[in-house]
Amino acid sequence: MQLEFFGAAGEVTGSCHILRVAGRDLLLDCGMIQGGHDAPARNRLPFPFEAAAIDAVVLSHAHIDHCGRLPLLVKRGYRGPIYTNKACADLVPILLRDSASLALRDSERAARHGERIEPLYDLDDVETTLRQIVPMPYDTQRGLLPGVVVRVRDAGHILGSSSVELWASEGETRRKLVFSGDLGQYDTPILQDPYRFESADLVLMESTYGNRLHRGREDTERELGGILAQAERDGGNVIVPAFAIGRSQELLYLLAKHYAEWHLARWKVFLDSPMAIAASRVYWNNPERFDEETTRLRENFRGMPPLPNLVLSESSEDSRAINHVRSGALIIAGSGMANGGRVLHHLKHNLERPECHVVIVGFQAPGTLGRQLVDRQPEVRIHGQRVRCLAQVHTLGGLSAHGDQDDLLRWYDSFAGRPPVYLVHGEVPSAEALAVKLREHGAVATVSRPGLTIDLANLPALSVD
Ligand SMILES: [Zn+2]
Repeated sequence: MQLEFFGAAGEVTGSCHILRVAGRDLLLDCGMIQGGHDAPARNRLPFPFEAAAIDAVVLSHAHIDHCGRLPLLVKRGYRGPIYTNKACADLVPILLRDSASLALRDSERAARHGERIEPLYDLDDVETTLRQIVPMPYDTQRGLLPGVVVRVRDAGHILGSSSVELWASEGETRRKLVFSGDLGQYDTPILQDPYRFESADLVLMESTYGNRLHRGREDTERELGGILAQAERDGGNVIVPAFAIGRSQELLYLLAKHYAEWHLARWKVFLDSPMAIAASRVYWNNPERFDEETTRLRENFRGMPPLPNLVLSESSEDSRAINHVRSGALIIAGSGMANGGRVLHHLKHNLERPECHVVIVGFQAPGTLGRQLVDRQPEVRIHGQRVRCLAQVHTLGGLSAHGDQDDLLRWYDSFAGRPPVYLVHGEVPSAEALAVKLREHGAVATVSRPGLTIDLANLPALSVD
């Protein structure tokens, strides 16, 4: 009965953990590594296990750093089930098909420069992967393998995101593991709060913002309103690199909510991402997980938030047309870390203009363009071209899909008996800062590292269910 850390140990991306119970192997997530020059090469490395020998996969949510290498796992021989929440199962096809298209485009671009790069996987691999997905409702136990029972709970991070409860039995020994997945902030728009657990023998917990406190929700909304007012006075555009899933829908929701107050009639709002448009439709068609405020809003308006000046840019011609808009455009475009996608074109056209504003609304991994903007680099490279950063860059931590240090501690504090906790999905300083705080809260907290293996049978049995 062993748990081994493979990905997202000592870093944020590439989530993947291996659980071995009674001779069976189960994966928690199989995510893509993002950011850094070596990320493409690292994604291609052999897995530290035989893909065909894995018996089951449980996927916490649809972000690419959690699901992005599933098609590679399938390409390398995995034929078993991929269990995940129902709404997540609706979102995963959007992300994986996009990921395969990006891989193909990168490989074609390389070929034009005389380089041969085989795509990590192709659309056929993705379609095979999608056929292996088994949707699960929240809050219902399910036996996955002999000796393994699982239940997914709402993690409040993005639609369909789960924390995973996992009961493992070997002979007389029974242990309960809780894997947090990515945890949302409390009291965010649209989604419900992360589920409160009461018992576990071992907790595997994310630590993305383990060393930071986000600004309060109301202050954040006020700050965003202030940025839009300033941008209007400056007469430029506003660019928001946003994750297609989660942030984009939350931004649209906030813009609809404050439409009159923020004088948004004077702006044109572009949602420039086919993936974000598709994801928005999935969001509004899954209202059963909404919080009260959003449920009320949806009842009044049926469907997408009412934003009369919203332009959905589906085609690349639609996207290119935005390049001619010099002022009054609020452009929400992927990718969220500006390491690819349509937002690059908008940054190329607007970064050198001091009257323009860039609003960063999510986590930016080291090595990404988004991180360089957050770090206020005077100059960056986009598509091989040097671009000076003269636009004003704002970081709105309060809009993050991830809980901050207080949220993470609040989540852990609901466990009775203070189970030991291993921290994943955080850069080392962030995970270490959270470990210090967790120890003050009575936990034995360890920062995980790749290859670290824990024998669950050696842990005291604390859980009561
Ligand atoms: Zn996530």
